[in-house]
Amino acid sequence: MSETEKAIYRLVLHPQDANCIPESTEIVRLALQAAEFIGEIYLETSVEDKSGNAAQDFLVGERFLQLLTFMGCSPNINLEPQHQGDHDFCHIRMSPLLAQPQFRSHERDVFARCPECGRRDTDWRARLEDWQVDSSQTNYQCPHCHQSMLLYDLRWRQQAGFARFFIDVFSIFPQEAIPTDNLLGVLNKTCAQPWNYFFTNR
Ligand SMILES: [Zn+2]
Repeated sequence: MSETEKAIYRLVLHPQDANCIPESTEIVRLALQAAEFIGEIYLETSVEDKSGNAAQDFLVGERFLQLLTFMGCSPNINLEPQHQGDHDFCHIRMSPLLAQPQFRSHERDVFARCPECGRRDTDWRARLEDWQVDSSQTNYQCPHCHQSMLLYDLRWRQQAGFARFFIDVFSIFPQEAIPTDNLLGVLNKTCAQPWNYFFTNR
């Protein structure tokens, strides 16, 4: 399996409100460069959206390690590529601004939970597929407590999320590191909305 095909674990940051996006990706880039979370551009990915906007990859900035809280005592992380074409090292990818909310999740063992009663919906994939076919299908009713809400309100125990803009921090294992309040504060300011995060391997 090539390096790019291999599942790479990552921490994903996104505005908590699925429909909220910053005014531009440039605003976020400038804020994260000023905070020294990100540094120079690593490479432009070739994947472009309909408006021709590609994701951008950045090397870590000088204060990258201070803006994350590492949960273990000695994190084993690479801050630089180990060879040409290496993607499994700490770098940051900013997505383009997406026209509609997108759902991203960890590959396995992901469960939707009702924010009201906290119980699992084992049939969540079917609900999600309806929404993926018709994005106006955002209404959701909990099969246990029958509370009505939006699909976007479901809880995923930090293994999934809906958003129109994502920042992937590569090479971070689930719960290996979480954003500091400082970093979330910088991000919150970019769209005057709270941000959230999850962990995924794709
Ligand atoms: Zn419920």
